[in-house]
Amino acid sequence: MNRNSHFRNLSLGVILVFFVLSASILTSAVFLGAEFFKIIFVCTAFLLFIVLALLLAGFFTVNTSLVNDRKSDKKNNGAFTRFFMNVALRVYMPFLLFVSDVFSYRKDEIRKVFIKANNKYVLSLDKKVLPEKLLVILPHCLQWSECAHRIREGLNECRQCCRCTLGKIKDLVRKFRVNIAIATGGTSARKAIKDLKPDLVVAVACERDLASGIIDVKKIPVYGIINKRPHGPCRDTWVNTEELEWALKHFLQKQE
Ligand code: SF4
Repeated sequence: MNRNSHFRNLSLGVILVFFVLSASILTSAVFLGAEFFKIIFVCTAFLLFIVLALLLAGFFTVNTSLVNDRKSDKKNNGAFTRFFMNVALRVYMPFLLFVSDVFSYRKDEIRKVFIKANNKYVLSLDKKVLPEKLLVILPHCLQWSECAHRIREGLNECRQCCRCTLGKIKDLVRKFRVNIAIATGGTSARKAIKDLKPDLVVAVACERDLASGIIDVKKIPVYGIINKRPHGPCRDTWVNTEELEWALKHFLQKQE
């Protein structure tokens, strides 16, 4: 099939939908009475109230999870709360992220809230996995930009010179025997998940990549750690290795 045919098909589909909508509204206006329109308005208002109720439920669920500290998570991790949190993270927060994107309103701040709420939800699952079923995804920009060693395939080549945090992460990977993948972007991160089929992912990335990755990976819990970018985006970034170590200890099953 010609590559341009997808563009043409989608365009014709969108134009057709708008044509049918315009023609239906015009026909209704000419042939139907005021009573009909009253019913339409009442139905629309009813649907909008349902959406409003869902928005309020999403807002209160996420807001409550942000206010609670880790200790009180234990009290709030019932199936009912987890269900609402899951729905809020899958529907309400992606909608809010979309709105903040469209209006360019505090995008990173909203993404941070999404990542924090998602992490709270993942912690509330109380999931413990074997080291071989835990995948740590790291962004390639954690590597010192002048380092001569190849790390795309893993940290074997890292000489642990301490110019970047990968040296310390190499120690953590050895200690906990977990899988790691160095991602150059969302596509390679998704490929690593598809290849390794982990039960849980601990991902390090910027707010944008983490938020989109968490939304994309629907069936596997993803615990996100935001990287620090003192030199701007995608260059010589670093991560709090204590936070990474805490997450690994938390999610790994205790070995006999
Ligand atoms: S710790 Fe040193 S050798 Fe390892 S990736 Fe960073 S700069 Fe390269």
